[in-house]
Amino acid sequence: MALTGSKRCISLVVPCFNEGGSLDAFFFRLETTLNALTEYDYEILCIDDGSQDDTLTKLLCHAERNPCISVIELSRNFGKEAALTAGIDAAKGHAVIPMDADLQHPPELIDEMLSHWEAGSDVVLARRLSRDTDHSLQRLVTGWFYLLHNRISDCEIPRDVGDFRLMDRCVVDALKALPERRRFMKGLFAWVGFRQTVVEFEVESRHSGVSSFNTKKLWGLAIEGITSFSAVPLSVWVYAGVVISLVALVSGSWIIVKTLAFGVDVPGYASILVAVLFLGGVQLMGIGVLGAYIGRIYSESKQRPIYIVRNHHTCVKSGPAHEIPAHEIPAHAASDHSPARNKNTR
Ligand code: UDP
Ligand code: MG
Repeated sequence: MALTGSKRCISLVVPCFNEGGSLDAFFFRLETTLNALTEYDYEILCIDDGSQDDTLTKLLCHAERNPCISVIELSRNFGKEAALTAGIDAAKGHAVIPMDADLQHPPELIDEMLSHWEAGSDVVLARRLSRDTDHSLQRLVTGWFYLLHNRISDCEIPRDVGDFRLMDRCVVDALKALPERRRFMKGLFAWVGFRQTVVEFEVESRHSGVSSFNTKKLWGLAIEGITSFSAVPLSVWVYAGVVISLVALVSGSWIIVKTLAFGVDVPGYASILVAVLFLGGVQLMGIGVLGAYIGRIYSESKQRPIYIVRNHHTCVKSGPAHEIPAHEIPAHAASDHSPARNKNTR
């Protein structure tokens, strides 16, 4: 479908990092869905986030085939949050939908999202119904993260809602106006607010390859999320200090009274050592938390760009999209709920 300008346009923003194995199936399912939505124009903005496999080559082939696909090539791997920001910055649609390239976000949900948008919602959140595709440690850490984050920060992040969502142009403009460079997108999406609706979906397994988010990266993301949206970890040390000082005052007074009443006791090296180690540990934790916030200030103050675009490959030819040749469509590309499944005999 070529852009005509007379219809409302939706922008799909797809960050891609080493997704060569998923792209054919991804475009097949996405385009099948979008081509059925004849009342809309669309653009698919794929961001190649410094992939080391054949992702860029494949993206360019698809962009050649379908003029609605354009490819933003970043100069290196900047991470998903930066890739997403690059796509959102470039998106021109009346509504913008960020989604993953590994088919964990079912394109078929777009239809339902659009109907909520048409009904007046500014943001349509896609909530995953289960976390069966995550490993148990990931599920545990994610659960703690939501609990802690939502307790101590002013803006609540909805549970089990990722980046897959529809945002009206007014929401996108509000996001683009936020000046911070360390961008925890889930938090920023929640912070801007607007009228929201939730749709639910069953998350699928990754089409191919492995997730880029190992436990270490997820931990880093969780710390990023908390330090981005709450100053409670900083101020909590005041209370910890008050409690420890009170304990020290009470035990100090007790030692003075005991010494006056019963004379000097044999010195207790073990208890002194325990107290010193305990206080040393508490102080180091406090300094560590300070360090996390100072690190944020340091990187924000450098004012480096969030991402660098090496090339923005836009379509050069006009006309309708070519269909994906039969031999390129993997057998498992169509899902059970694909609207085109029965129509498609290829
Ligand atoms: N991604 C990216 N840059 C990165 C890591 C991931 O653009 O540094 C993309 C990736 O290609 C995918 C999406 O972000 O489209 C989600 O990544 P992934 O599937 O690895 O994360 P998970 O679904 O396990 O949270
Ligand atoms: Mg994924």
